[in-house]
Amino acid sequence: MGRSADCPLVLLAGSRVDGSPIWGLAHASWRSTVQGITTRLLKDMTAAGALSDDLSALIAPSAGPCCYEVGRDVYAAALEGIGPHAADFFIEKDSGLFFDLWTANRDALLRGGLPPSSIRLDGRCTICDADFPSYRREGAEAARFGVVLGRRRP
Ligand SMILES: [Zn+2]
Repeated sequence: MGRSADCPLVLLAGSRVDGSPIWGLAHASWRSTVQGITTRLLKDMTAAGALSDDLSALIAPSAGPCCYEVGRDVYAAALEGIGPHAADFFIEKDSGLFFDLWTANRDALLRGGLPPSSIRLDGRCTICDADFPSYRREGAEAARFGVVLGRRRP
């Protein structure tokens, strides 16, 4: 289970060579995203025996590119941590610079070998969807929502 109030939670589930289940979860804050947490999670799971072509991913509700305004320091950190292609994850608007954490983490999953059909992006923005708590909208007192990763019995 992961808890969040804007940061994308990236969930991965699949199986190992022996058929046993394997799960992984990353709390992909902007700092963790630019440091490659999703790429590292994929590598750790593969090292633990996960079959990469059997993994499914979900990027949970989180701050969306519609609302997630950041400073130039975040842009610089992304270029340094992810590489020059990280420029594609930022949107320049009249009101400022916006970081698309969804695309950044989806890109890390694609580069890690997951096919597009195995990646689900929830797409609900926690900042503009009042059904979710939001650190940006409500401040440090914001509640957290939880995402639970499990396996149904056959
Ligand atoms: Zn939004």
